[in-house]
Amino acid sequence: MIANSINKSNQQTLQKEINFSGIGLHSGIYANVIIAPDSPNSGITFIRTDLKENNTIKALWSNVSSTNLSTTISNENKISVSTIEHLMSALSGMHVDNAKIFVDGPEIPIMDGSSFPFVELIEKAATQEQNNKRKILKVLKEVTVYKEDSFARIVPSNQFSIDFEIEFNSTLINKQACQLQLLNGNYKSDISYARTFGFEKDVNELRKNGFAIGGTLDNAVVVGQHKILNKEGLRFKDEFVRHKMLDCIGDLYLSGHPVEGYFYGRKSGHFLNNKLLRKLLSDEQNYKLI
Ligand SMILES: [Zn+2]
Repeated sequence: MIANSINKSNQQTLQKEINFSGIGLHSGIYANVIIAPDSPNSGITFIRTDLKENNTIKALWSNVSSTNLSTTISNENKISVSTIEHLMSALSGMHVDNAKIFVDGPEIPIMDGSSFPFVELIEKAATQEQNNKRKILKVLKEVTVYKEDSFARIVPSNQFSIDFEIEFNSTLINKQACQLQLLNGNYKSDISYARTFGFEKDVNELRKNGFAIGGTLDNAVVVGQHKILNKEGLRFKDEFVRHKMLDCIGDLYLSGHPVEGYFYGRKSGHFLNNKLLRKLLSDEQNYKLI
């Protein structure tokens, strides 16, 4: 179980701007990103600077428009930004409540496939405490969503905890479960290094369908039939399940708040993570903001 102690004090933003650039995993499109501090209670906002109008997209569960291989959010004018989950995960893990993210393309750069580069940049810029209290989404009732043999569940708890299990038809992964404690800064050491992954056998089909065009061994773990194709090997023995947890932390941050609840996922992914938030937040008896 991962237990993430939530700082119940004040909201935070960045002390100064962050800049980075790179290609998108799926589109292969190069983009430049600036993350700027923002005022209290504004949350996380994406702004497409390559577009002149209607270019603002709030990082909220209700704006999720696609969960196919990554999480995409769109505004009412169908302007979108995709593969936001690793950056959202880093912002959540580093307790950044308010920030404006300017990006001049349709997809957030994949960097090395993990959220570590974002964590490092946030650390360098440093966070700044603000005057307003942080609002936490406290789960009051158990909520579960299913898809075939997968599910995502959240139950009341006094802390944010994640318990995750995956299963793949590959001798290199098989079943992996991760239950560990994540307290004060452990997001960086226990989660942030875990890279996204894919299977060598799927690459051609993915590319035919317009996915993974920017994917290389420098930004994803590629699982072959008998071995991991990346020369450097894995960063954790169970890097695969840890990456799914990294994704989950990013997807849950689209609630707009740190979550106080115990998440249990079995083969969950972007689709179920978002479905869980939609169900949780559809009934005010399920949660309260404290
Ligand atoms: Zn991911």
